[in-house]
Amino acid sequence: MTDRAQQTRTSWLATIARYTRDPDQPGSADYWSPSLDCASRDELRAIQDAKLAALTPFLYENSAFYRRRFDRLGLAPTDIRCVDDLPKWPVVDKTEMMADVETDPPYGTYTTHDNALWAARGWMMFSSSGSTGVPRIFRYSQIDRELWAWANARALHAFGIRPGDTMLICAGYGPHVFAWGVQFALAKMGVACVPGGGMTGEARAMLIDRFRPTVVTCTPSYALHLARVMEARGLDPARSSVRMVLVGGEPAAGIEGTRRRLETLWGARLVEFYGCTEASPHCGGYSCPASDRGPGPVTAHLMEDVQVWELVDPDTRQRVAEGARGLTVCTSLNSESSPQLRFVVGDYSVFDASKCACGRTHVRAVGAFAGRADELINLRGVKMYPVQVEAAVRAVAGIGDEYEIVLASNADGLDVMTVRVEHASPSVATDVAAEIRTRCEIRCDVEVLAPGTLPKTEFKARRVRDTRRAG
Ligand SMILES: [Zn+2]
Repeated sequence: MTDRAQQTRTSWLATIARYTRDPDQPGSADYWSPSLDCASRDELRAIQDAKLAALTPFLYENSAFYRRRFDRLGLAPTDIRCVDDLPKWPVVDKTEMMADVETDPPYGTYTTHDNALWAARGWMMFSSSGSTGVPRIFRYSQIDRELWAWANARALHAFGIRPGDTMLICAGYGPHVFAWGVQFALAKMGVACVPGGGMTGEARAMLIDRFRPTVVTCTPSYALHLARVMEARGLDPARSSVRMVLVGGEPAAGIEGTRRRLETLWGARLVEFYGCTEASPHCGGYSCPASDRGPGPVTAHLMEDVQVWELVDPDTRQRVAEGARGLTVCTSLNSESSPQLRFVVGDYSVFDASKCACGRTHVRAVGAFAGRADELINLRGVKMYPVQVEAAVRAVAGIGDEYEIVLASNADGLDVMTVRVEHASPSVATDVAAEIRTRCEIRCDVEVLAPGTLPKTEFKARRVRDTRRAG
């Protein structure tokens, strides 16, 4: 490592430490820090600017990927010293990162760590769950994991989780950030945890009955599945010890029908984590006490002292005006080993920077998040998200939890969509088709199957089956 590389790293680490509150210090309010969570917008911007000014020289001196990109763009690290400078740096998307990995397998060159530093720091491997393409691999150092645990603990605190709670994590663990991020935060907070990895729904239902967790963590699809497993065993989830269901990995809180169904089934509050493997570790979006209490749609905060969130136009990739809709872009300020400078996370959102009723000043995603832009369904030029179909399906009373969207080319070569749902009465097809026509502006066939016909979702739901001809 060159002297300059070491200097910029030391300076970056010192900057991060300056803005990281130690919950073990006397006078600390644990994971609620008014100086960070309720800072004025100007104060937040000053923190972001200070971190960015330390980050860009650090990236330039320590990461081959970033150095090449700075040089190619004719930019010096000092050209990007504050949030207002960010638009000079064109956004980085998955394709660009995948090309880097292909040229330099298996990790690519964007990390700031050489092999010696990786060995000295210790690391853990994660992979993207890959809604599109092959899973991509990321490593995060122990320093990153400690910062991650702290940021996630702040989010868990915002959900209302405290020592005295017991959380059952229903996840396969594996190299996925969601469950591990929650796990690390619980350990930091001193909150009890039952790791429910690698077991059946029946076994997990028995854990709930026996060990009485107050919080269950899983994907929204799994929360539905687990509640049904409990019912089948004669256990009523709404009368269980569970007071909160923490979901992530799929959109849920922003889909009114899904949120209501889960909250009713469990007799519990639904809270949500939002993020992606690339811009981990560190909390992305999270529910707060006021997320679902306002007159308008649900909201999710984004933790702005550790990340910069922007919205860009999907075509021009330029920042959209304040209050306009755009695709999420994240700059992670608090990752030593794998920082991101304007990475396209790619969910459509609208941001509201006004102060929240919970007291936090960090920006909120209005309506939470509704799925990645690359999940967009294009049917004969009409574009829609699977969640729009989900909202339509859930709007019809008595529909089962599972549903499927099948895209196919018919005998005339025309692309058609069939939505398969479960209901005791076949006549409900008309109602479902009408809801879909209203919400997605498209006509489709609806196939009503007997309850229990569609495969049960165990982890992330695969709702869309596209059998259309290639190209
Ligand atoms: Zn809030």
